[in-house]
Amino acid sequence: MQKKTKFRYSIFFKLIILFIIFIVLVNISIGFMFSHILKKGPFGFSDRLPVLINNYIVKQIGMHPDTVRIRDITKELESNIRIETPDMKWSSDESIPDINYLSKDADFKTSENSFIIRQKGRPYYISKYKDGFIIITPVMPRDLVNETDVIIAVIIIFTLLASLLYFSLRWIFGPIRKLSDGVALISEGNFNNNIDIDRKDELGSLSDSINEMKDNISEMIKSKESLLIDVSHELRSPLTRIKLANEFIEDKKINSRIREDVKEMELMISELLDTYRMENINSVSNKEKTDLIKLVKGVVSKYDPQIVILNSDVNEFPVFAESRKMETVFNNIIDNAIKYSDGKPVNINIYRQSQDENIICVSIKDKGKGIDKNEIKKIFEPFYRIDKSREKKILGYGLGLSLVKKIIEEHKAQIEVKSTPGTGTEFIISIPIFIQNNP
Ligand code: ADP
Repeated sequence: MQKKTKFRYSIFFKLIILFIIFIVLVNISIGFMFSHILKKGPFGFSDRLPVLINNYIVKQIGMHPDTVRIRDITKELESNIRIETPDMKWSSDESIPDINYLSKDADFKTSENSFIIRQKGRPYYISKYKDGFIIITPVMPRDLVNETDVIIAVIIIFTLLASLLYFSLRWIFGPIRKLSDGVALISEGNFNNNIDIDRKDELGSLSDSINEMKDNISEMIKSKESLLIDVSHELRSPLTRIKLANEFIEDKKINSRIREDVKEMELMISELLDTYRMENINSVSNKEKTDLIKLVKGVVSKYDPQIVILNSDVNEFPVFAESRKMETVFNNIIDNAIKYSDGKPVNINIYRQSQDENIICVSIKDKGKGIDKNEIKKIFEPFYRIDKSREKKILGYGLGLSLVKKIIEEHKAQIEVKSTPGTGTEFIISIPIFIQNNP
């Protein structure tokens, strides 16, 4: 039964948290960027500060200031000041423009009598008091925020945020790849490995469900297989009885038809039993150092040399294999090559692989009807025959190649099929050499 995912472990919850964090961080960085670029101070405080500074200056120097006092306060504040009254104009720095010039482009007001004016990119704080008393304080370069620095900082923050988002999403959806690999293995009929995802979210419970489903399917297949084997076994006795009873039927036509049918059933039963018996033999313990060339020569010797022609570049090649099973592989492929090519000669070539000298290839090539490209994968499935009606005349139950595939996998070998419909088919089996301590 599928476990219900707790909300706090769910992917949905993780995504919500992730997006909230992301939105908050993006807002903070956008706020930071704009507040600095607009010179408004990060949280809108700094525009009040110059008013306070100007008020402080007025308080210190009075409404009728003398220049000595102004100079002292300029030093104290480490800032430049321009003062304009109806009687005097005084500036600690000649480059500070006068009010008539500046007030042409005041860009915003900070209070009724205070302005910030930008001149050639430099802001000036202006405070007007009664009786035409004006103080202008330029923002010192040390107080200016460097816009390039802010942009670089924002780019870095966004890059970090985007990477954080990317790695978080990768972590959340990471197990999907494991899931799809696991499901692909199951669809190929491999029921031995569990999908291992140690998570409490939906993906964790999905992997648990897939593992459970895989185990159930595997059990079902096993019990169907054992039913098939039992039924096949049980069919042998009635078949023998039919064969015996058939001997007493005098009508030759009926007698031979029954004999043909019984023969066909016996073949099917023995193929089925052979296949499953072979699959269930403990493969590891029976493997041994075997000379593959000798083994193939032995198989080929059972066929007519006019039909099965052997060519070998190699005299000896040890492999780690179970002889009986490997013989079955070559028997099945050579039988097929003869069956599906109307008795045309079949060529067997043994050679070392060009990329890796430690791998031997056995090629079985026929000039038969060939196999369509999209059928090649299917011919290794149990009971699969390409064209059941056309191949009815050719005896077989589609079990041979499924057994071949299993044996090849057990031996860590490879099988490749190259075919051109109407021209012929080539099966190539590649097996690694036997190495004493590392078979
Ligand atoms: P079968 O008992 O039907 O021969 P196999 O598992 O050996 O079962 O082969 C499966 C199917 O693959 C065959 O029914 C046939 O359609 C196709 N096949 C196998 N070998 C060849 C070949 N050499 N040329 C053409 N078709 C082939």
